[in-house]
Amino acid sequence: MKPRFYDFEQGPIRPPNEARSLLLRFTRNCPWNQCLFCPVYKNTQFSRRSVDEIKQDISTAKKIHDDIREISCKLGYGGNVNEHVVRKIFQSSDKSQSYKSIALWMHHATNACFLQDADNLNMKTGELVDVLKFLKETFPHITRITTYSRSRTVIRKTVEELRQIREAGLDRVHIGLETGYDPLLKFMKKGVTAEQQIEAGQKIREAGMELSEYVMPGLGGQLMWREHALQTAEVLNKINPHFIRLRSLRIPHHVPLYEKLKDGSFALQTDDGVVEEIRLFIETLDGIESNVASDHIMNLLEEVGGKLPQDKPHILDVIGKYQALPDEDRLIFRAGRRSGYMRSTDELAANRELYNNIRDLVEDVRSKQGADGVEKFIKELADRYI
Ligand code: SF4
Repeated sequence: MKPRFYDFEQGPIRPPNEARSLLLRFTRNCPWNQCLFCPVYKNTQFSRRSVDEIKQDISTAKKIHDDIREISCKLGYGGNVNEHVVRKIFQSSDKSQSYKSIALWMHHATNACFLQDADNLNMKTGELVDVLKFLKETFPHITRITTYSRSRTVIRKTVEELRQIREAGLDRVHIGLETGYDPLLKFMKKGVTAEQQIEAGQKIREAGMELSEYVMPGLGGQLMWREHALQTAEVLNKINPHFIRLRSLRIPHHVPLYEKLKDGSFALQTDDGVVEEIRLFIETLDGIESNVASDHIMNLLEEVGGKLPQDKPHILDVIGKYQALPDEDRLIFRAGRRSGYMRSTDELAANRELYNNIRDLVEDVRSKQGADGVEKFIKELADRYI
């Protein structure tokens, strides 16, 4: 008998901490799509998917889920989706990408679901409530449902509507705050003001949902870095989100900001400048209880994380340790981190062999291409992750 071919639609991205979640696409692309720094949805059109279409995908995901359990039982693992089951599925040429993603989700057993794409609160409240309820009925073991949304969209909903959405199952909203500095929001065409960001964040909290705010270190460039750090912290002090996540700016060639970089109207901040900006930002956060995370590969200092206010000294210590390094060691750490070999400044002392190898590499590049060549080399290493 011909094997059943199951497939459903998935979008291009999810937050780093949702890598092990079930990914379901509720809307397509971004309704705004104008932010100068954003590479994700360029040359695409936003569209809402119909309730029937989304429910169809959820049903297909459930069929795949049951099919995978059956495969596990046939292999003698009693429904457990261990690495042998996952390998078997990944080796099958008749399995779709979405099928494989469900296998990984079951293997990791996170019971979490992330709704793609950029702005699902853009759906009509009744329709979103309907599909969320259907999702919860279909997968009763899911314990966390999260999504992205825009502040401008959130403030169009009443707290009562947001509460209905919360009660239907949406636990957490990820918002790309990026900055709380109005001139920078305008320059980057974010399409939202600091006041609107505050209103949106407060509404999400009032409705009982968890809130994750993304901040973009480096976005102020060399001109606006200080105001960016200070005003972003001030906005977050008024919101008190559950999570503050750092995702540093990188500029791929196909985003509009690249043109501004080329014509000189935007000057990229240095790695050391961004670290100083983050220090000022963390110092200015006050009176809030957020979890700070630096869980994006674009960030130089991965250990900048912890719960406020108690972990603030630890976070500042991580930053201070980097800033206190001799110039050459900061360079070696940057090359080590951007090449993926180092994760913490502690490794500079703890792994001398690695330190010596990276130092020799940096020295080699410097002898052939000078100090600018070393900077170019480190930038190219970092840009591989874009
Ligand atoms: S709102 Fe978000 S997804 Fe849309 S363009 Fe801006 S950064 Fe990109």
